[in-house]
Amino acid sequence: MADKSKEKINRLEPDYRDIAERLDDFNEVENSLSVDDIKKQATRCLNCGTPFCHGYACPLANIIPEINEFVTMDRWEDALELLLTTHPFPEFTARICPALCEGSCVLGINESPVTIRQVEKLIIETGFEKGWVKPRPPLKRRAERIAVIGSGPAGLAAAERLNKKGYRVTVFEKDLNPGGLLMYGIPNFKLDKQVVMRRINLMKDEGIIFECGIEAGRDISFNYLTRHFSAIIITGGTGQPRNLNIPGRELKGIHFAMDLLKAQNKRLMGEPLAAELDITAGGKNVVVIGGGDTGSDCIGTALRQGAKSLCQLEIMPRPPKVRDVKNPWPLWPLIERVSSSHQEGGTRRWCVETVKFEGSREGEIKRLYCLEVEWLHREGKFIPVKKENTEFTIEADLVLLALGFLGPGPDPLADAIGLERDEKGNLLVNNQHLTSLPGVFSAGDIARGQSLVVRAIADGVAAAEDIDSYLNSP
Ligand SMILES: Cc1cc2nc3c(=O)[nH]c(=O)nc-3n(C[C@H](O)[C@H](O)[C@H](O)COP(=O)(O)OP(=O)(O)OC[C@H]3O[C@@H](n4cnc5c(N)ncnc54)[C@H](O)[C@@H]3O)c2cc1C
Ligand code: SF4
Repeated sequence: MADKSKEKINRLEPDYRDIAERLDDFNEVENSLSVDDIKKQATRCLNCGTPFCHGYACPLANIIPEINEFVTMDRWEDALELLLTTHPFPEFTARICPALCEGSCVLGINESPVTIRQVEKLIIETGFEKGWVKPRPPLKRRAERIAVIGSGPAGLAAAERLNKKGYRVTVFEKDLNPGGLLMYGIPNFKLDKQVVMRRINLMKDEGIIFECGIEAGRDISFNYLTRHFSAIIITGGTGQPRNLNIPGRELKGIHFAMDLLKAQNKRLMGEPLAAELDITAGGKNVVVIGGGDTGSDCIGTALRQGAKSLCQLEIMPRPPKVRDVKNPWPLWPLIERVSSSHQEGGTRRWCVETVKFEGSREGEIKRLYCLEVEWLHREGKFIPVKKENTEFTIEADLVLLALGFLGPGPDPLADAIGLERDEKGNLLVNNQHLTSLPGVFSAGDIARGQSLVVRAIADGVAAAEDIDSYLNSP
């Protein structure tokens, strides 16, 4: 291992492509660090006795200290093998994970954490470049067939792990391409769709069958599934966006964020778009309501489409720049995040409530009526209270609602067979991912609620183990 006593190495952040250049296309914006820089960064790892990155923070329990050590020793193939033992798709999280591991890195107590996500990115991309990542079909096939419903990260992870165990896996996907939100939600400038297809093609070469354009519960029945498959796992994601039911909501030009993002991803994939879904921000004054990541993805997308102006509104208070005392290490740092899209343009406002939409005579959105709130603790609750004389309006031709998701909503398969749901509407599963029907499992956002790609992958991996135990139990 490199001698850490000689030089003090600071954390190095990857930079982004030049703003003027990147706004001209939808290609990935983040540059990678060089091999030398990554090796230096990996030497910052303390190889902790209790590695919080691995044991506490990473949902996949990636063996981060040892992976870092292999990198410092130039043992890239060993680093890759170790990474792949816990993680089926490092190339996805290496691009779009908030890096929960870094939020809990021990080094972060006194200085900045190890750049774990960047290390992971170089390992997996080196693996693809050198041909070390190649189809690894199982040596022996089993008789049982398994149906995976939905091909987002949870479904893909379950399919990959079950196939490795020798099961005959078919993935059913209602969209024309597999990948779920990796393909249709997350913009290309964060995750290139070639990266997703590279993995899907590898999975096909390993023997997994993908049946796209097929909605389980509509195009194929539960009866069909039970006749052909020994187990079913439903990984349909959360499809029901949160609405903003205020006066004027019915006006034309007010859309859910996913409508814009899905339309743009489909356009880039050359997929047909129905006229009512052909939404673009080009030449428009755009307001995004919701200050989270989906809202930020709308900003990057709208700017590339040529939006005239852009404003993102958030009702919650502006987060602090550094951790608050009530949010100590090793908790995930609740601090203000500036995404690559925020750097590109638009304005952000916090503590703003939208109370009314107003439209033209033709019924098109023209302006928003807003006011400022302050957040106060009252009777044990943290609530927004209107600030006097703070009313203002914003002109808008396009409003995007990025307020999160309420849950899966109606699901043709789950509803046809009467699967039980929890109080939030998610499919109810026990601690072995089993739903209320024997042989029917569920994982990812449809069962756990809206979350992160890394959690969906971890849930899919864990569900695959549970299905294997179920099918092997006497
Ligand atoms: C705009 C946006 C940006 C995001 N950005 C990030 C990010 O940067 N980093 C991050 O970690 N997380 C991000 N997330 C969250 C992340 O994408 C999700 O948590 C994750 O994709 C959930 O995976 P999943 O497999 O459970 O569901 P999904 O990815 O939603 O996939 C479910 C799939 O099931 C299919 N399906 C549903 N019902 C049926 C049926 N009956 N028959 C056949 N197919 C069906 C759907 O078409 C879909 O393809 C983002 C989410 C959104 C909306
Ligand atoms: S917590 Fe940070 S310093 Fe410790 S082992 Fe993990 S990456 Fe290395």
